Amino acid sequence: MRYISTRGQSPAQGFCDILLGGLAPDGGLYLPESYPQITRAELDAWRGLSYADLAYAILSKFITDIPAGDLKAICQKTYTPQVYCYTRAGSNANDITPVTWLNQNRLGLQELSNGPTLAFKDMAMQLLGNLFEYVLKQRGESINILGATSGDTGSAAEYAMRGKDGVTVFMLSPDGKMSAFQRAQMYSLQDENIYNLAVRGMFDDAQDIVKAVSNDAAFKAKYRIGAVNSINWGRVAAQIVYYFQGYFLATQHNDQQVAFCVPSGNFGNICAGHIARQMGLPIAKLILATNENNVLDEFFSTGVYRPRGTAETHVTSSPSMDISKASNFERFIFDLVGRDAAKVRELWAKVDAGGAFDLNGTPYWADIAKYGFASGSSTHADRLNTIREVWVQYQLLIDTHTADGVKVAQEQIKLLPEGIAMVVLETAQPAKFAETIQEAIGQLPQPPKGLEHLETLPQRVEVIDPDVNVVKAFIQQHVAV
Ligand SMILES: *Cc1c(COP(=O)(O)O)cnc(C)c1O
Repeated sequence: MRYISTRGQSPAQGFCDILLGGLAPDGGLYLPESYPQITRAELDAWRGLSYADLAYAILSKFITDIPAGDLKAICQKTYTPQVYCYTRAGSNANDITPVTWLNQNRLGLQELSNGPTLAFKDMAMQLLGNLFEYVLKQRGESINILGATSGDTGSAAEYAMRGKDGVTVFMLSPDGKMSAFQRAQMYSLQDENIYNLAVRGMFDDAQDIVKAVSNDAAFKAKYRIGAVNSINWGRVAAQIVYYFQGYFLATQHNDQQVAFCVPSGNFGNICAGHIARQMGLPIAKLILATNENNVLDEFFSTGVYRPRGTAETHVTSSPSMDISKASNFERFIFDLVGRDAAKVRELWAKVDAGGAFDLNGTPYWADIAKYGFASGSSTHADRLNTIREVWVQYQLLIDTHTADGVKVAQEQIKLLPEGIAMVVLETAQPAKFAETIQEAIGQLPQPPKGLEHLETLPQRVEVIDPDVNVVKAFIQQHVAV
C-alpha cells in the first residue's frame, strides 16, 4: 500500500516512510492511493475476533511494509485490557471499546476512553508509540518529539511514548491553564524520556514556539524534531478499527447497519469513520457533532467551509473540540472532489490565505449525500442538560464532549429508520472535566479506580518563559545522544 498527498505534488510513499512525519512536502495530507474493499466473507470472519486480532486484520491492509508477524505482535502488545483498563462498571474490558446501551439496540455509547489518559486519543496513540519504537529500532534512528498541548493530546502522547527506546518527548503546556487532573496526569510522569515544559502564557504561546522551532529547518534536522499531531496518518488508520468493533458489538449479524455519532474537532476521529464506510462497513450515517465552534456543522448544513480566527474561537466546556479550522478535513474534501488534487489546491489556496470556500451549487455538493454525513451542534446549556438527563434517566455519567454527541444523536435518531442503532462515540471520561460535571449534577465525578491519588503524586515540570530560544536550549541540553 502506497500513500499519496491530497495536494498531488509529492511522491507516493510507504507507511513506515510517512509514519514519523507530518504534512507531505507539498503541504497536503497523506491518504492511501485507494481504500481496501472488505468482502462479506471477511466481515463474517472478523465478527468475534479479539480487538487485537481485528486491529491486525484491518491494519495489515494499510501497513504492508512491516512483516506480518511483527505487526501482529505490535497489535497484541497494544490492545490489551491491561492498557485499556478504566472500563465503566459492568462493561467487558476484553472488548477494549465496550458498548453500553442507553436504549437497548437503539442508542448506545462506545467507550473509547478506557486508556491511560481517559480520552479517545489513547486508542491510536498507544499503537503509535509501539510503531515508532519498532520503526526507529529497524532504522537505527531516534526522534525528539516536540508538541504543545492544552490537555488531551499531550498527555496521550506522553503515556504512549514513555519509556520507549529512541524517543524523547518535549511537551509544552500553558502554565496553570489545565485542570488539576490534567496537570497531575502529565506532570506526575517520572520517565527520563519525558520532559514537561510549562510555558508562562497561553496555549497559543506554546503553539507558536513549536511552530517557530519547526520552521527552523537546520535545527529541526540537526535535532531530529518530530511531531505526533492529529494529521498523522498512523493515528487515523488506528482509529478505523474501533468503527468495526463498534459495528460488531452493536449488531447481531452483518446484514444490519449502524449509525455513528462523533464529537468532532479536527475531523480526525470521524475521518476514520468515513474511511471505514468507504471500505464497505455497513454504516448508515456518520453524524458529526460540534460544540459552539461549529465550523464543520456549518459545512455539512450549507456547503460553506469557513475556518475561524482565534478571536472567533470560543472557549467552551468541551475544550478538546475548540478548534477554528479542522486539520483533517482536507482528507474528506479530497475524496468528495473525486480525488482531484488540483481542485484541493485551488480550495486550500483560499483557506490558507484566511478565506473560505463554498461547494453549494457545484457537482461535488450534489454528491454529498452518498457519503452519509449529517451534523448538529450544541451549547454549554445543552451539555449540562444532557449530562443531567443521562445521569437521572440511566444512572450513567458522561463527559462534556460525549454530551455534545448525545445531544446531536438524540435529534438525529428521529430521522433514522427503526432497526438501525445509533452509537455515540464516548471520547473522554467525566473525571477529566470535574467542574462542569459538578455544575450539571451537583456532585463531583469519581476518578476511575486506581487513579484516586493521582493529584497527590510528586510532579516533574519546568516552568519557562514563552521564548523559543529557551526551548531550543532546553532541547539541546536534553536530547538523547
Ligand atoms: C480530540 C478530542 C475530540 C475531537 O476529536 P477530533 O479527532 O479532533 O475530531 C473530541 N473529544 C475529545 C475528548 C478529544 O480529546
